[in-house]
Amino acid sequence: MIIKSSEFITSAAKPSQYPPAELPEIAFAGRSNVGKSSLINTIINRKRLVKTSRTPGRTQLINFFEINTAFTFVDLPGYGYAKVPKSVKKSWGPMVETYLSTRKTLKGVVLIMDIRRTPRLEELNFIVWLHYYGIPDVLVLTKTDKLSKTKQKKQLLSISKALGVDPDNLILFSAKSRLGKDAVWDSLGQLIYEKKED
Ligand code: GDP
Repeated sequence: MIIKSSEFITSAAKPSQYPPAELPEIAFAGRSNVGKSSLINTIINRKRLVKTSRTPGRTQLINFFEINTAFTFVDLPGYGYAKVPKSVKKSWGPMVETYLSTRKTLKGVVLIMDIRRTPRLEELNFIVWLHYYGIPDVLVLTKTDKLSKTKQKKQLLSISKALGVDPDNLILFSAKSRLGKDAVWDSLGQLIYEKKED
């Protein structure tokens, strides 16, 4: 994918604050600190268009970015962020679930996981949510550069088992080496440009 432009549009907590639903949209989700901002920045060739969760504020909201004036990327707030107040944690579920269940232009969700960690209930529940709403998922294991090839393979198998998916359905990624960038775009391209089966 050739990126000609990428621009922050707005932050939103509720549907009335979302930008008009006009372009096909892809959302990104994952535990805080998993490498979500790094992944988005890597695939759109930007250093820090998407801010990291180390700077709370904007990251507890749903952030919209327009890419190539052709589609929208949505950075969902990271879950499991230890430093946010309980009230904010409580609003995460409804805020994200409202977005997922109401956004007509949403074509798919990229769920980013750390290859070194076995997925927990949050990830499993999130995948169940997506299936419930009929939203296609793209499952990515990031930070692969932190493991040897042998350990990557071991983790790939163990994570695919935990999630109940075929290992071929998990994309290995690294923001450091840029491994998996093309594979992510292949999946996104299919979701953005091909008709969603219903
Ligand atoms: P976010 O909270 O999910 O948006 O996570 P960030 O993208 O801010 O990344 C959290 C930390 O992990 C930062 O220190 C990043 O530099 C680091 N990081 C993210 N992706 C990778 C990766 O693929 N490889 C390595 N080695 N570090 C990464």
